[in-house]
Amino acid sequence: MTTPTLPLNPNIRIPLLKNFTHLHSAPTLDLPIKSTKTPPFPDATTTASSSKASIYFIGTATTLLSYSSIRILTDPNFLHAGDHVHLGPGVSSTRQTNPAIDLEALPPLDLILLSHYHEDHFDRKVEDSVNRQFPIVTTPHAKACLTADTKQEPFRNVHGLDFFQSLQLPIKNDDGTTSAVKVTAMPGKHVPPGPLSVVNDLIGAVPPTNGWLVELGHTKDGEGFQVGYRIYISGDTLMVPELKQIPEYLAGEKIDLMLVHLGGTTIPGPHLPLLMVTMDGVQGVELMKLVDPDITVPIHYDDYDVMISGLDVFKKEVEKAGLAGRVVYLGRGERYEFDVRE
Ligand SMILES: [Zn+2]
Repeated sequence: MTTPTLPLNPNIRIPLLKNFTHLHSAPTLDLPIKSTKTPPFPDATTTASSSKASIYFIGTATTLLSYSSIRILTDPNFLHAGDHVHLGPGVSSTRQTNPAIDLEALPPLDLILLSHYHEDHFDRKVEDSVNRQFPIVTTPHAKACLTADTKQEPFRNVHGLDFFQSLQLPIKNDDGTTSAVKVTAMPGKHVPPGPLSVVNDLIGAVPPTNGWLVELGHTKDGEGFQVGYRIYISGDTLMVPELKQIPEYLAGEKIDLMLVHLGGTTIPGPHLPLLMVTMDGVQGVELMKLVDPDITVPIHYDDYDVMISGLDVFKKEVEKAGLAGRVVYLGRGERYEFDVRE
C-alpha cells in the first residue's frame, strides 16, 4: 500500500499567520517591553544539514521539530501565565507558565501536527491567527471541528488521520537531495475506559487524541523511504491496553526519541480531582518500559493548574526504574539535537 503524500516546499512556504504582512510593516513600538515578552527564536541554521535535526521545547506540548529544511510545530499553545482555557463543559484551567517564544516570533514553518482539539493544544489565539491555508495534520475529529462550515472562517488544508494511517511529506532540499518525513497516527485514549468513557462519548467533553510516529529519513529521487530516525509522541493519552499495539506495529524497529505528555491532568480541576485524563509520572515510566525508546523527553507536565503530577513524580519513578540515563529534561526554550542516520 502506498502512503498518500502531502508535498511541502520550504521554498514557497505558506505563511503561518493570516496577518503576516503586518509584522513587516508594523511601526516600531514605543511601548515599554512587557516582562512576559519572550526572546526571538534562536538561530536555527544548526539544523540546515540534511542529517541534523532537533526538537525545541516551547511549553505545554508545543515543540518545534527541525529536520533538513522542514519545520513542524506540534500542538501550538502560546498563551501566557494567567490566561484561561476552556477544556469541556464546566472545565477550565489557568496557565501557570509562559511559552519560550511567542507565536509571532516563530520562524517560517511547514506543518502543524495537532494531537487533538483541546484549547491547551490549540488555543483561541492560535485558532484566530493561523492562516486558513496552512497545512495541519490531526485527528478526524479535530479536522471536522476545524473545517466545519458553521465556523466563520473554516480551515482549508486539514488532514485527518485515523490510528495507523500515514501521510508522507517529501521535501526537496536546497542542495538537490531529497528528504522525507512520514507521520503515522498512533493510538491514544484521553478518557479511561468504562462508564465515564460512555458518558464522555455522549457529551463530547474530552476529544479523541492521536499519538504520532514521526519518521525522519531520505528518499532517492522521491522514491522509496529509508528511515533514519523515529520519534514517538504520546499525545494526551492514558496508559491503556491499546498502546500495546505500538510495539506490535513497530515489529522490532527502535524508537529513538519519545516525547511523553505527562501532568496527570485531572478534571474538573485541582480542587476537585475526580478524573485523570493524561498520564502521571508513574504511567509515564510504564510507557517508557512498553515503548523502550533510547531517549525520553517529558513535556506537558506543569503548564496548567489541572496538571497535578509534576516532573518530580516522574523523576522519582525514572530513578526507581533505573532509567535515569535514558531521560533528557528540556526546559522551555531548550533544544535537543540529534543526527538522522544516512
Ligand atoms: Zn493537554
